[in-house]
Amino acid sequence: MVTDNFPNDSLEKISSEIIGCPLCKLSRNRKNAVPGEGQISAKLVFIGEAPGKNEDEKGKPFVGAAGSILSTAMEKAGITRSEVFITNVVKCRPPSNRVPEEDERVACRPYLERQISLISPKIICILGSTAYSSILGGKSITANRGKIVKRNGQKYFLTIHPAAAIYNKNLRSVLEDDLFKLAKEIKKTADNGKPSLLEYT
Ligand code: URA
Repeated sequence: MVTDNFPNDSLEKISSEIIGCPLCKLSRNRKNAVPGEGQISAKLVFIGEAPGKNEDEKGKPFVGAAGSILSTAMEKAGITRSEVFITNVVKCRPPSNRVPEEDERVACRPYLERQISLISPKIICILGSTAYSSILGGKSITANRGKIVKRNGQKYFLTIHPAAAIYNKNLRSVLEDDLFKLAKEIKKTADNGKPSLLEYT
């Protein structure tokens, strides 16, 4: 998702537009919109599906059960939350945490594009099938997790959504192994820019 720069844009400006956004029906029932959080200098951006109950209450991404699984996996891989940017495909909570609908994803997409354009990360980590289908048109995250996709000059790393590991504890090590690979990939890119050892899809 590499787009042209939006002149005079800033992460703060995007966040304040999201907080007041009326563009889709999810805006009607939100307590808080969840623009995302992190540094403009982040080399790594995580993209999930949509805020859940805890995120809606706090206005921050991945602060509930899925967030704690994600944080643990990141920590084990040596990735610090404060050095990345974390956001979602849609910025407001869908009712009963249903999957965001097409019109909601479309309405929210320019915010995500602007965030990515400003941050210009080395790699984007796609968390789960909603982000995979929305951003890359992908079908099976299970079949493709652990792989890299390069599209329009942007690298993406694919992995499962941490919420999938809330009840299926076996998936925690899957996520952890994937983030370990991702951390190695980032380090390698920073060290020497050599081609990836990971499989491209
Ligand atoms: N699930 C998501 O996809 N995003 C969040 O922020 C929290 C849970």
